[in-house]
Formats: sequence, structure tokens, C-alpha cells
Amino acid sequence: MKILVVNAGSSSLKYQLIDMDGEKELAKGLVERIGIEGSRLKHSAGEKKTEISQEIPDHEAAAQLMLKILQDPEFGVIKSTDEIGAVGHRVLHGGSAFTASVIVNDAAKQAIRDCFPLGPLHNPANLMGIEACEKVMKGTPQVAVFDTAFHQTMPPKAYMYGVPKMYEEKLHVRRYGFHGTSHRYVSRRVCEFLGISPVGKKIIICHLGNGSSLSAVMDGKCQDTSMGLTPLEGLLMGTRCGSCDPAVVQFIANNPLKDDGTPVGHPISVDEVLTMMNKKSGLLGISGKSSDCRDIDELANNGDENAKLAQEMLIYGIKKYIGSYAAAMGGVDIIVFTAGIGENNADLRARVIDGLDFMGAKIDPEKNKTRKEAVISSDDSRVTVCVIPTNEEIMIARDTLDLVTTGKVRDN
Ligand code: AMP
Repeated sequence: MKILVVNAGSSSLKYQLIDMDGEKELAKGLVERIGIEGSRLKHSAGEKKTEISQEIPDHEAAAQLMLKILQDPEFGVIKSTDEIGAVGHRVLHGGSAFTASVIVNDAAKQAIRDCFPLGPLHNPANLMGIEACEKVMKGTPQVAVFDTAFHQTMPPKAYMYGVPKMYEEKLHVRRYGFHGTSHRYVSRRVCEFLGISPVGKKIIICHLGNGSSLSAVMDGKCQDTSMGLTPLEGLLMGTRCGSCDPAVVQFIANNPLKDDGTPVGHPISVDEVLTMMNKKSGLLGISGKSSDCRDIDELANNGDENAKLAQEMLIYGIKKYIGSYAAAMGGVDIIVFTAGIGENNADLRARVIDGLDFMGAKIDPEKNKTRKEAVISSDDSRVTVCVIPTNEEIMIARDTLDLVTTGKVRDN
């Protein structure tokens, strides 16, 4: 069966068509600037690449264009949309309602809508993507795969915040965690790769990209994760500040500064502070130059002190989470690096693991040169340290296939 994987944002729609017979990617693409001037589609099928610039007023038009190019005589890979067996959608927030992926029906759509306050930027866009595909592919099953679902096995002591309990009971204020599809894929794949069972294994997964999160996984189930009610909590990220004293919000709201460092002169709202914490902080805010780890590395190598500090803060934060998750699980057997930084930045991996030999983790500098699936710890390291490239699309496609063929996902 061919499965279409869709990730809809507020002005974008990313897609990938996968032949599940061999799990082969047939084509992928991105529709950008939906509803904005300059909208375009970028598409590739193997070596063949094309770009179309045209007016794309809404997500339905984007979905139509995606289907058109997938059937194009030159750049397409299917003759008819009937070849698409089902569509799997990435959905950011499933709240407490979803512990696994589901076939989309009216109740599922309502539950996604109910989570709009928890994922105000992503969930409405994700639902638009689902509804657009429903319109242009009538009768084709649609599946929703949630970024939060894998973390639903966390115990209350890990997901509760210390605010009055009624906020969790009445308003669902708690830790949810994100990147769940990636954490789930990587936690399964690392065991397959090492030829071991997840049962009895304590794994720490470091998903380090533009957004970053760690998870503690025991017996294949998530025990804790660093992101919270929203993706702002946890590590220092590309543009997000990560965890800090909540009182910082009040202090900055009362004493805001302009981009040039001079006082605004009047208080700003909590929403404005959070926008700054989400979009202008992290590597970007500390370096003052870039949110991209490659730029930060280059700047640091050229002696930029703020870039060096940003690097150190990121590495120190990852170390602290690894230490706390090892303590929480009573040990660690495997540490995995994944996503853009985790898969590509060997120097950062080495600096994170450096000094962790007290808990049995040692890097082999030669093995660490990899960007592929590999064990990178030394032969005498008690903890196995690995690189496992993430593949959220394949996880979404597998759940979609499972749900439409057997009615349940094979390995949640
Ligand atoms: P992601 O959000 O997973 O796409 O990751 C984006 C982050 O990964 C950015 O900070 C990039 O600097 C970093 N990254 C991506 N590719 C590389 C690479 N080849 N070498 C070093 N860092 C990379």
C-alpha cells in the first residue's frame, strides 16, 4: 500500500509518499507560503526535482496541487489518487485524549479542536491539513499521529506541575512532551539495531534539532521528557529559552528592553514575553547572531564569546538532563543522539558525554565521526552510546498502515 504522510503548518504543507512494500520513499515535497504572496511548491521524486510558483490561496488548493504533481506525467509517481491507500497526518497536540494514533472521524476532529488552546499555532493548521485532504481525497482514510502520544505513559509524579491540582483537573495544565513520534521511532529502532529487547532497558534519547527534547524510556515506555505543556520547557533551543524561573516572565514583562537594549519604557504583556522566549531566545538570543547550531559552531571556532557561551549552555543543559534521567530510572543502559544536531554534530556529542565516565559512558572518537546509525561509545563503555537518525515519516506511515489494515498500531 502507498501511504501519504502530511505535515501541515499554518502556511505550509509538507508531504511524503511512501510505498510500504519495502518502506520506500517515492516522492516528497513542500508547499510554502500558503495564502501569502509568493506561494510555491517544491517537489522531488528520486533524482527528479521541480518547483512550481503559483497562487495557492488555502490548504485545499495546496492539497490539490500536491495530488496534481504526484500524478504528473514527468515528475509524478502515481497514475491515480486511488493508489494512495491512506493519509497519515502529523498532529502536534493530542492532550490527554490520545495515547496512540487514531483514524480520523468526527469525534477525533473534535478532540483535536479541543486541544487548540494547548497547541494554538499548530493544531488548527494540522486540522486544516486533515480537512483539506478529506475534501480532495474523498473516501481515503485519514489517520492522526500525535506528537504527544508516546509521552502519555509518564507517571503523574513526572507530568504534574506543582501548581494547585485543580489546574490539571479542570484545565489540563501538565507536562505533555513533544517530538513523541521521533522518541518512539528512535527508542524502537535503537533496540532493533543493537539486536536487543527493549524490556528491562533504560534508554535516554537526546532529540537535538532546532527544537530539542530528551526522554527517559524504560521497558520501551516513556517515563519522563523535557518539554512540557508547550515545547518551550526544557533545553536551550534554536530560538527558545527552555526552562527558567517562571518569575523571569513577570520581571521581563515589567522591565522590557528593545532589540537595541534600551528600555521600552512601559510594561509588556505575558504573551509578548512568551513570544520573545519562543522566537528570540535560545542560541539566537545568547549569541545575538544565529539560531543555527552550525553558525554557532563556526562563530565559536572564530573566537565569538557569546557563541561559545551558547554552546556551553546547550551542552551543560543536556548533561544535566542525562544525569537526572539516569538518577530517576536508577541507571542508564543506552544514550541515543538524533535529529539535526544529534545526528551531525560529533563535537557536541563528544562534549556532552565527556566527563560521564563516572556513570559508565565513554565515547570512541573514531566511531563518533559517523552521521549514520552507529554505536559511538568505546568498547569499555558500560553505557552504549548510539547515533540513530530519526524518521518520523516512517513511524506515521506505519501507524497509518496498521490502523487501516488491522485497526490497531503494532507497537505503541
Ligand atoms: P532539525 O530541527 O532536526 O532539522 O535540526 C536543525 C539543527 O541541526 C540546526 O541547528 C542545524 O545547525 C543542525 N544541523 C543540521 N545539519 C547539520 C550538519 N550537517 N552539521 C551540523 N549541524 C547540523
